[in-house]
Amino acid sequence: MKTFFSPQYVSHDSGLETTKKPGWIAERISKNGGILSTPNAITQDELNAFLDHDYVSQLFNLTLSSSAFSTKWTADLLKSIRHSNGGVRDAVLAALKDGCAGSLSSGLHHAGKNYGMGFCQVNGLAMGALIAKQNGKRVGILDVDAHCGGGTFDILGHLDIPIADLSTFSLDQWKSSKKIHHLDLFYSRDEKAYLGRVEKALNHLKACDVDFIMHNAGMDPSLSGISKATLNQREEMIAHWCKDNKIGVCWVLAGGYLSHNISETDLVDMHYSTYQHFNQI
Ligand SMILES: [Zn+2]
Repeated sequence: MKTFFSPQYVSHDSGLETTKKPGWIAERISKNGGILSTPNAITQDELNAFLDHDYVSQLFNLTLSSSAFSTKWTADLLKSIRHSNGGVRDAVLAALKDGCAGSLSSGLHHAGKNYGMGFCQVNGLAMGALIAKQNGKRVGILDVDAHCGGGTFDILGHLDIPIADLSTFSLDQWKSSKKIHHLDLFYSRDEKAYLGRVEKALNHLKACDVDFIMHNAGMDPSLSGISKATLNQREEMIAHWCKDNKIGVCWVLAGGYLSHNISETDLVDMHYSTYQHFNQI
């Protein structure tokens, strides 16, 4: 399985896990004998194809007000975002060919067509779906990050792209009456029930007859008390579902943070489980 990473992903030293952890996970993959592929950076034209042109030029000219983000918008961060989104594009192209690929980029699902939010400036998850669609796929979004993907909905909501969004926090919630959209807010710590809701999200995508998914593999439900073991089972379940149903998949990292009871090793273990399970299908 092709897995994309470049040291440029982590060239921005914000001190945040979003821009640091890809390096930690890449190190684990390499240590275990895995090969990483280097992507090409995304261009301004590629972003103009799906985002508001004013927003894109502000991103590239560094004239964007930093107030929308949890971190300052700088040339270094632009470089990091261009490479990590290039990784998503290259992973989608590899998955279209090979059936499965991933990138150690975050999906950045809070970023919309003309805005960014939190740690998210450019929504690679939505971009990846659009690339798959342009290549003739009936693509769907599977977003199991703890937070809702309001940015993804802002970009894709008007299109015929099914979305299954399972969240354990209501942040960035979105609303739709379309049958192809499934937003499930799960506030319990019942881990068996959580896996049941994952199954429900997968069933939704299957009912929408998708043949390719963008998987936003967030590990931050761990902040709501969902255990490492259950998140590992979740990734196994999703990987097997893709294999059994012959559904192409491009996975990306999403949320997943250090906390008083989540160490760097725990965080890497959790994201590594995505790589491991998809590498086996
Ligand atoms: Zn999140």
